[in-house]
Amino acid sequence: MLELKSYLQDEWQSGSGDGATLFNPANGEAIARASTTGLDLGAALSFARKEGGPALRELSFAQRGEILTGLSKAIHSHRSELLEISTLNTGTTLKDSKFDIDGATGTLAAYGALGAELGERTFLLDGDGLQVGRSPRFHGQHIQVPLRGVAIHINAFNFPAWGFAEKLACSFLAGMPALTKPATGTSLPSHRIAEIVVDSGLCPAGSWSFLCGSVGDLLSHTTAQDVVAFTGSAQTARKIRSQDRIVEQSVRVNAEADSLNAMVIGPDVEPGSDTWDLFIRELTREITQKSGQKCTATRRVFLPPNLIDPAVEALRESLAEFPAGLPTDDSVRMGPLSTPDQYPDVVEGLRQLAGVAEIAIGSIPDGDGANGALIEPVVFVCKDPARASLVHELEVFGPCCTLMPYSGDPIQGGEMVARANGCLVATSYSDDLSFCRELLFELAPWNGRVLLGSKRIAEHSTGPGIVLPQLVHGGPGRAGGGLELGGLRGLKLYMQTCAVQGSRPMIEKILDA
Ligand code: NAP
Repeated sequence: MLELKSYLQDEWQSGSGDGATLFNPANGEAIARASTTGLDLGAALSFARKEGGPALRELSFAQRGEILTGLSKAIHSHRSELLEISTLNTGTTLKDSKFDIDGATGTLAAYGALGAELGERTFLLDGDGLQVGRSPRFHGQHIQVPLRGVAIHINAFNFPAWGFAEKLACSFLAGMPALTKPATGTSLPSHRIAEIVVDSGLCPAGSWSFLCGSVGDLLSHTTAQDVVAFTGSAQTARKIRSQDRIVEQSVRVNAEADSLNAMVIGPDVEPGSDTWDLFIRELTREITQKSGQKCTATRRVFLPPNLIDPAVEALRESLAEFPAGLPTDDSVRMGPLSTPDQYPDVVEGLRQLAGVAEIAIGSIPDGDGANGALIEPVVFVCKDPARASLVHELEVFGPCCTLMPYSGDPIQGGEMVARANGCLVATSYSDDLSFCRELLFELAPWNGRVLLGSKRIAEHSTGPGIVLPQLVHGGPGRAGGGLELGGLRGLKLYMQTCAVQGSRPMIEKILDA
């Protein structure tokens, strides 16, 4: 069976023992193994700090950007092969595989272009200089400089390519070496990308490492200058944040975790209108794209009571186009769950939701998922969302969502969304400006991103599920409290903001301000 290696200290290394097994979720076949047992992770981090850090910091933003552009092209040149690998290991249809692979190359390219814009500097000026004393001679200027440690990137199973790229793009451009650790179960696409990155010869020595398999004792070797950027469950985020070493060294941790994202439909929206059709189209995509296994997928939908039945009818029709099937069949538009072991978890989650909500579309599967982790879309209706706290707490990571009534008042809609205690994204569908204004300011404190869906953008909207490199990704509270991407904002995690005080001429000369 294929043995997946790690790339540490600029060489491919194998762990000992059997390690973990990777499967094809469409048929349950074992396809590869990955082990990190016995690897010296402390030495790997020291090497990256000593070799990779100085090499990257010496480069200007434009030069770091060139590396990212080069990586984007190198990965893109293996697109067909990567799409196949993605389908094999994550069960995604061709379209869903493209979403991950093209998302990765697009994000690297976007940050490559940002590097070119930032030009020949090696650090950032943060705002304008300030007079900080009675005389203009006594001057202050904020700067941002790259941290001297390693950016440790721990990714979730659902985006083995994009997850690698969105984190790497920001840390590399900031000037920090990185170590990528994909989720083991779906690490085959990440491993092939790692080979492409290494073979490209684009990364300076020590600037990129790859750990394939369990995280082992990696985090016990972190220092105050390292950063941990994590994507995954809230439970693992908590474990990472509370590790003694992380606490003692005040290691920066950015967490992107679970999220019960929501949609709120305005009372002005009429079934059959452009805005309604946009809502149904985007909700259908959120339920079925990657079989609902996106952190940004919509789980809760709040509608005025009279719109619930029309929404169920419209969804019944649109979801009929997405029966779950094997991703190798070209006509299939929704594949299985990414790994076979998620099947019982999703079925159990659906059962729990059925305890507080009625099933309006679909049913709870009764198989064991052993011959393919296929789950059909399920839509619930929960009539009393103010009492049913479970619908705001339980993230079922599969093709499902719950429709719920609210009064049509934007304040109440916002209050319902906030019950999930922080989300990555919320969407409103309405053409009423005052409704949108009130709802936006109810949603914004609880959500990292708000999409205002209306007829004016019906033809242009990319939907709530797509994360764009120009806009921030992350959300407060339950969603992890993290912030990634957002153009230049994404670099801040990897840089120290330092206030410099002194004589104005000296500061301006040193900083070339
Ligand atoms: P997970 O079980 O928390 O695993 C995530 C990553 O953490 C994996 O790489 C895993 O490695 C690693 N890990 C596990 N235990 C660890 C520990 N003690 N210390 C350090 N790392 C550890 O989550 P998942 O099942 O892969 O992902 C599903 C969840 O991620 C969902 O809840 C989803 O909402 C969330 N998610 C969020 C976002 C976002 O951007 N906010 C994006 C995607 C997914 P192994 O695989 O080797 O165990």
